[in-house]
Amino acid sequence: MENKIIIIGAGISGLSLAYHLEEMKCRNYLILEAAAKAGGLCGSYELNGFTFDYSGHLLHLSSKQGLRLAQKLLGKNALAHKRRAFVHIYGEDLPYPFQNNLYGLRDAVVSECVKGALTAYKDKKIKDTTLFKNWALALYGEGICKHFMFPYNQKLWQTDLDKMTSAWCGKFIPAGTLEDIIKGAYTRRRKDFGYNAGFLYPKEGGCGAICGGLLKKAGNLHLNSEAKEIDLKEKSVKAGGKKYAYDTLVSTMPLKTLGAIIKNLPPPVKRDFELLKHNSVYVLNLGVSGGTKEGHWYYFPQDKYPFYRAGVQSAFSPALAPQGASGFYIEFAFPGGAVVKEQDLKKMEQQTLKHLLELGFIARDAKILAAGWAQIPCAYPIYDVNYETARKNIIDFLAAQNIYLLGRFGAWEYSFMEKSLLDGAAMAGKLVKA
Ligand SMILES: Cc1cc2nc3c(=O)[nH]c(=O)nc-3n(C[C@H](O)[C@H](O)[C@H](O)COP(=O)(O)OP(=O)(O)OC[C@H]3O[C@@H](n4cnc5c(N)ncnc54)[C@H](O)[C@@H]3O)c2cc1C
Repeated sequence: MENKIIIIGAGISGLSLAYHLEEMKCRNYLILEAAAKAGGLCGSYELNGFTFDYSGHLLHLSSKQGLRLAQKLLGKNALAHKRRAFVHIYGEDLPYPFQNNLYGLRDAVVSECVKGALTAYKDKKIKDTTLFKNWALALYGEGICKHFMFPYNQKLWQTDLDKMTSAWCGKFIPAGTLEDIIKGAYTRRRKDFGYNAGFLYPKEGGCGAICGGLLKKAGNLHLNSEAKEIDLKEKSVKAGGKKYAYDTLVSTMPLKTLGAIIKNLPPPVKRDFELLKHNSVYVLNLGVSGGTKEGHWYYFPQDKYPFYRAGVQSAFSPALAPQGASGFYIEFAFPGGAVVKEQDLKKMEQQTLKHLLELGFIARDAKILAAGWAQIPCAYPIYDVNYETARKNIIDFLAAQNIYLLGRFGAWEYSFMEKSLLDGAAMAGKLVKA
């Protein structure tokens, strides 16, 4: 009962907070983790000689602080990569991002995209770009939206795109100018765009090695301890058959689920929790004999492919697959909370193998050496028209109860590992000073 700071979740966010508390000589914390091991979504596992992440997890670092911390955590166990990402569309592998690399598509599609972009820039008809579709139409025009922006994002978000806002777009969709669109339509370019143009990846151990680095310092970890009830009046959490008192609670578990375990929430706050939406993702991790294509990952906007993205896990480090074999992760999105039956997963697997063969990822005589599904029930928090107000009301209400939110799912934002690492450091500073 003497622990003053309780952290729910030992993913990269919770571990970063604990690691930085330790660095500040604060040991007055406890981590409650539902699973039997730490790491959360940034963990990795071994299967028949392959190492898989739960879905390929690459360290895209955009700050010096993030880079320094990643280097400290990984030491010599790090490989630096320059992105090799493609959009597979109409039979072509175009370099990513689509809008700046139209060269190679048939003339009619290129003309439609260029004409749409020129019209958007000339007419400037759309003044309010708060909604996602308006933002994309204003920036790229109708052709690029029709062929890529709308179908790809529909496949990924699995929600009504008309109700999505553009609040998440700036960081995640590489911007470009009209000049970039036009140059990329008529020549093959070698310019890097976007936040993920380069990345670090562990040489060994998969992405889980990053959490391994944090675990060298982060301690007070209680595994198999799922937080099941939070009592705001008593300031206590029930987990693993015990009750823990806290002064400060930091949650990295999905915010929507947190709402469901807080006792006696005021009805307006309960309604705000109900407004939070997310999608769910299933990942097929696959190991096969033989080599594969050159890319790190590929986007699939067309409906004929049931997956939205496929990555080559073994391209991140040769240590992730036996010699002469290739590892893949193939991602499928569903509306939030969807549960796919075992027999449907089997069908999806068969269908995917046919697509991978036809797409040239695997050879006709390739042998399946490893296959397994990872489920991410809460994968992308959805930025719809209710998102901002509902999330702010919840954050304000919880902060008044000394409950703070951290991480992509805890703080309910479209974010990534670097932010988890840095937000964990910032939260530690704030809690130690308080
Ligand atoms: C498909 C996909 C691909 C991604 N790819 C990348 C990428 O390439 N690069 C990148 O930087 N980011 C990527 N991300 C984002 C990255 O996964 C997140 O930023 C990161 O995992 C957030 O870590 P976290 O610790 O906040 O959450 P989590 O990893 O979800 O950790 C939360 C922990 O809380 C535990 N928990 C949940 N409920 C309870 C409970 N009731 N009681 C106790 N414990 C509980 C969970 O078991 C888990 O261990 C990707 C995300 C997705 C969905």
